[in-house]
Amino acid sequence: MKVTKKWIKFIPLLTLIVGPVAETQAATSQLAILYTNAAKNRNGGDPQIKARLRNRIQVTNRTSRQSRANFFVRLVNIKRIGYNERGVDLFSSFIHLAGGGFTANEKIPRNEGRIVERRAKADLVSIITTGTGGGGNRGAVGWANTPGYYSAINADSLGNTQGVPHEIGHNFDGLHQRAHRLPNGLTTVMWGNFARAWTQYYSNPHVRRNGVLTGNGNKNNAIRMRRRDYANANRFR
Ligand SMILES: [Zn+2]
Repeated sequence: MKVTKKWIKFIPLLTLIVGPVAETQAATSQLAILYTNAAKNRNGGDPQIKARLRNRIQVTNRTSRQSRANFFVRLVNIKRIGYNERGVDLFSSFIHLAGGGFTANEKIPRNEGRIVERRAKADLVSIITTGTGGGGNRGAVGWANTPGYYSAINADSLGNTQGVPHEIGHNFDGLHQRAHRLPNGLTTVMWGNFARAWTQYYSNPHVRRNGVLTGNGNKNNAIRMRRRDYANANRFR
């Protein structure tokens, strides 16, 4: 009897403690990835680029999970497309995917994007090309709507596991200026410069890595991502 009473007393306290950090179930956003022949060659072939992309999506989901960013991405389609990016910077390929283009070649990413949106119900669509730069940023290796549905990622940057979780993180409203640099010099995924040592977290002032907080009051991408989670996942529902 005494034990029961004690537990009853503890229930409201536990609710108070658990309540603020409890997570709602992650909504699933479906992702399709389109890549070019040149992007395939840079990664060693079709099986190799596909394996690499599947791994990078796993890294993205792990990053989201351990940051409590609360989004989950399911890869529903990976497809090589007949788009020639020679002489086309990465930003232009991103625009071709998101908004279209003038020439027959430029229209291919948008048309292929529409097909995977319709047939595979892809909420998010990403294109991988060998292009870099554009939009006034010579060194850019990725572009994404922030928040939004589209991204473009450089084929060589797939060797770095940060590229995909970074660009997909933008689709969930992640911002460079909300990324966090930990006291040990590691930076969270949305940091604007890939050259730095990074850790598989989106900034969150309530989540620690090896005892160290991964964010602060202003450096909190996780809360932005949780707000965007359902909008992306429910795009076609
Ligand atoms: Zn970025």
